[in-house]
Amino acid sequence: MREAGCPEEELFSFLSSKKDEDLGYHRVLSSMCTHPHPVAVRAHQMFIESNLGDPGLFTGSASLERLLIERLGTLFHHPGAGGYATAGGTESNIQALRIAKKKASSRSPNIIIPESAHFSFEKACDILSLEMRTVPCDAAYCMDMEQIDEYIDANTVFLGGIAGSTEYGTIDPLTSLSEIAEGRDIFFHVDAAFGGFVLPFLEPAVAFDFSLPGVSSISADPHKMGFSTIPVGCLLVRDESMLRCLHVDTPYLTIKQAYTLNGTRSGGAVAGALAVLEYLGKGGMRAIVRGCMENTWRLIAGMEAWGYPAAVRPEVNIATFSCPAVPEGWRVSRTRKGHMRIVCMPHVHRDVIEAFLHDIGELHA
Ligand code: PLP
Repeated sequence: MREAGCPEEELFSFLSSKKDEDLGYHRVLSSMCTHPHPVAVRAHQMFIESNLGDPGLFTGSASLERLLIERLGTLFHHPGAGGYATAGGTESNIQALRIAKKKASSRSPNIIIPESAHFSFEKACDILSLEMRTVPCDAAYCMDMEQIDEYIDANTVFLGGIAGSTEYGTIDPLTSLSEIAEGRDIFFHVDAAFGGFVLPFLEPAVAFDFSLPGVSSISADPHKMGFSTIPVGCLLVRDESMLRCLHVDTPYLTIKQAYTLNGTRSGGAVAGALAVLEYLGKGGMRAIVRGCMENTWRLIAGMEAWGYPAAVRPEVNIATFSCPAVPEGWRVSRTRKGHMRIVCMPHVHRDVIEAFLHDIGELHA
């Protein structure tokens, strides 16, 4: 650390040079985050000092968090859902696994997820000493239900299904998983970290949420398709009381017990997440999601016209292709199976898609 502080001008000129090194989503087709909505930025700034880790000091912020969970519970067909704002999908998945593990009290617990599940489950199982059993996917990149029986046993404490998979944008057979979970009394978590802010705004609607009776919990991230500032995810549970098993004593805070994983939590990002939902409403979200899906279909049509077939027809705005080369200057990612993966986030406008297709065409020629 410097002995004497740096003059502000000099400091911000240094920061500005570092900011210029960031790609800032320009020609970035691989990210599940995007520019936050201006109202999210404004709301975040307004609550910049708010720490939801000590909610008795920030009662206004805490009521915004409750309202956010209430809005999402209603959107996910269960207005009475409990939950809280996490730091993102990873924390939500860890917490869902913790609840499942505590509820079941097996001595050698295992969990069942599709092989397409996000790597946060691997981290979570390592931390929680859970055996992770991954069911292979079928040709449509969804959990292969023909095989699931081989993986479930009396020590299975958790079933996980994905609504909008990270790599292929697919949805697991959630209705069947819900039936299995109900029949066997297993905790069933839907990871809708990405799809949670897409699927409710699609027509026709897809059943991925609490409308399925076996669903115990859902993760959905405002900092992905919810245009919020980073970091904010949401964990929703069917019944608020399910969180109680995570309580630890917090004697020196304004609340005497807490179930969150993180201590200090950003009230600003929560205010931002709620602000976007209130400002845009369902109509605004539907329009944005519709635009992202139209761009996804345009990209798929354009790539197929150049001879690069889509790996699968996605359910959300993620497109994957058998296409080995990448035109210069573009950021795309690769799935574990080697497909080119493009997330058509709101910053990936139609002219960005057309420019990319043009450059792909040049490569093709
Ligand atoms: N779950 C899914 C389906 C995801 O796509 C992601 C991130 O891409 C996560 C969980 C983890 O979210 P985060 O990076 O916010 O922790």
